Amino acid sequence: MERLLASLDQIADGSPNFISRASAQFERGGQAHRLPRYVYLGPKGGGDTIRIGIFATIHGDEPEGALALTRFATELETHPEIAKGYALFIYPVCNPTGFEADTRASSNGKDLNREFWKNSAEPEVRFLESEICLHAFDGIITLHSDDTSEGLYGFVGGAVLSENLLEPALLEAGQFLPRNRRRVIDGFAAQHGIISAGYNGVLRSLPGVVRPPFEITFETPQKASLHRQVEAFNAALVSILNEYRHLIAIAQNI
Ligand SMILES: [Zn+2]
Repeated sequence: MERLLASLDQIADGSPNFISRASAQFERGGQAHRLPRYVYLGPKGGGDTIRIGIFATIHGDEPEGALALTRFATELETHPEIAKGYALFIYPVCNPTGFEADTRASSNGKDLNREFWKNSAEPEVRFLESEICLHAFDGIITLHSDDTSEGLYGFVGGAVLSENLLEPALLEAGQFLPRNRRRVIDGFAAQHGIISAGYNGVLRSLPGVVRPPFEITFETPQKASLHRQVEAFNAALVSILNEYRHLIAIAQNI
């Protein structure tokens, strides 16, 4: 993990817009662990700053998302206008002990992506829940890679416009990997790679809030080339930010 974070820290060191914030610390089995977080402040846009949370590697054996976020950070440095009007809160490794051990679950044996908003005692979940509450995100994007899928797909939740963001993201990412067009993916009904249901306890916004953020879980086929997965994630993130800015601008003109 230190090598992965070193490359992110290096980008943060050289950039006035990319900030490494104090990681969450927790102890387990006599060892200290940290859950890193970064903030990227894009150039000022026309309206209020839009706050987006981007979360990767909540399943420790899915490092592809974390790697994609270093790629995405480089993209932001060369093309800051991608983040115009945004504050991006980036959590590249949401399950640090699982990441170190290359296991889906944390070292407590928990699938952290089934623990949200259930009064979980897991420190990783508590920290991420408090971040989600504190920042009141306008959008939540989570990155996963699925070793049972041969193509790209995603889950939508929260605000109704989520689907209008995922479709173009799948289209852009489709330059790098095919889409999973099965009618059933991961046990859920799917349409053109889009699933509108989800598991209980996944990383998402606090259920029942008045103005829910958009929620997108983007999944790459884990057995595909790592390079293509990283590029697909990057293309999807760029697309979501562009589309959402566009939709907000239209809504404000009405
Ligand atoms: Zn996963």
